[in-house]
Amino acid sequence: MTAPALLEHRFADTLPELSLDWQAATVSAPTALALDEDLAAELGLDPDWLRSPAGLRFLVGNELPDGARPVAQGYAGHQFGGYSPRLGDGRALLLGEIAAPDGTLRDVHLKGSGRTPFSRGGDGWATAGPMLREHLMATAMFALGVPTTRSLAVTGTGQQVARESLLAGAVLTRMASSHLRIGTFQYAAALVAGEHAPADLLGRLTRHAIDRHYPQLAEADRPALALLQAVCDAQARLVAQWMSLGFVHGVLNTDNVLISGETIDYGPCAFTDTFDPSSVFSSIDEGGRYAFGHQPGITQWNLARFAEALLPSVDENIDTAVELASEVINTFPATYDDAYAGHLARKLGLDAVDRPLVKDLIELMQAETADITLLFGDLTRVAGGEVGRFADRPAYTQWLGRWLAHHPDPCVMAAANPVYIPRNHLVQEALDAAITGDLEPFNRMLQVVREPFTARVGFEDYTKPAPQDFGDYVTFCGT
Ligand code: AMP
Ligand code: MG
Ligand code: MG
Repeated sequence: MTAPALLEHRFADTLPELSLDWQAATVSAPTALALDEDLAAELGLDPDWLRSPAGLRFLVGNELPDGARPVAQGYAGHQFGGYSPRLGDGRALLLGEIAAPDGTLRDVHLKGSGRTPFSRGGDGWATAGPMLREHLMATAMFALGVPTTRSLAVTGTGQQVARESLLAGAVLTRMASSHLRIGTFQYAAALVAGEHAPADLLGRLTRHAIDRHYPQLAEADRPALALLQAVCDAQARLVAQWMSLGFVHGVLNTDNVLISGETIDYGPCAFTDTFDPSSVFSSIDEGGRYAFGHQPGITQWNLARFAEALLPSVDENIDTAVELASEVINTFPATYDDAYAGHLARKLGLDAVDRPLVKDLIELMQAETADITLLFGDLTRVAGGEVGRFADRPAYTQWLGRWLAHHPDPCVMAAANPVYIPRNHLVQEALDAAITGDLEPFNRMLQVVREPFTARVGFEDYTKPAPQDFGDYVTFCGT
């Protein structure tokens, strides 16, 4: 297999009102910076071909199979609570959908492919550092078992991009089960409410989303309400998983929340070492709206914006629509709590979780500013019989007794507690080297995060917390 034989264009055809036909900018000298060979194989693409000149041109959108119809997608979104009616792919393109050998349909999407009609003041470019960061974080999240968009490749453009200084440009080739966002529905709802309402746009979008992600709902009495419930559940489960790992997304605007329940937009994300609810890394999140501990609540808020967009499709009678949609949104906390409890139970090697036990542990960990990854590693070893692990930590004695009385299973724990997470100081070190042309630390780090549950000799540094002088970590929206 060489080039993909076909890129489908179901989104572009079904929902022409929601995108504009567009082409990627021509890249003068594409070079491979990163390629996920496993993902290439999953898609039926040959990694050697992807590294060839023709493959690189495909990865930046400059050479597409006959009949491809690349588009810039429109979407709206609440950004930090304020509504923007027209965001859209300002530096991105949907090349089309690829049918993977496993039968699934995946979006092939570019980030950093030049200006589009949605660019507003932006230049349409992306730089190598943030794109490599997305590649690393998305790879880590996938390996940790979290639903996520994935990065097939990062390709250098050979062109300079003007930021505070001149930086190397790059294109990220992103794969997702779709790029349908809450913001896509908000954009469609605004068109429907406007002067020249396209016929049945919300209905078509709802059916398209159900067809791609929740086909079991095709016959539902109220498809829009069923979709709302499915997305509510998927998002509750997703955020519960983030919370069990210490993942801070950083920019949970409604345009960055996918209907599929996959994580998207690895701009300012980072892992907190301590489960501190007030953890914020993003330079622009001054009010802490998207702090670690706010993620479940803000996701429910985002889902309420999704519900608002769907209301006209839920019921003709607005009061009935609001009542039905509210009932669904109100199921979020319980779904979230159950999912979170399930993750914590596995992390503690138990079949079911005893809520006070979890609550007390989290309080203890916070009081002791324990490193989450190291602490659960130590607990796993205690469950395996290494009783001396907490000898110098008397604060835990009473809690350990209560937990051990439940007979935790160390094998369950080993499968649930990563040895390696992408620690902020190491991510930074790897990226700093990468942008000077030394990809060795980046590739080494990729190796580690691809198998996060397996301790390996020679990689001990990747388990250590940041040195004292690393200071507060600050992240930036992908530039
Ligand atoms: P994000 O913060 O990544 O979710 O992006 C928010 C919006 O800004 C989206 O509409 C992006 O397409 C747009 N955007 C971000 N960076 C650029 C850029 N360099 N040029 C044009 N549009 C951009
Ligand atoms: Mg975004
Ligand atoms: Mg972004």
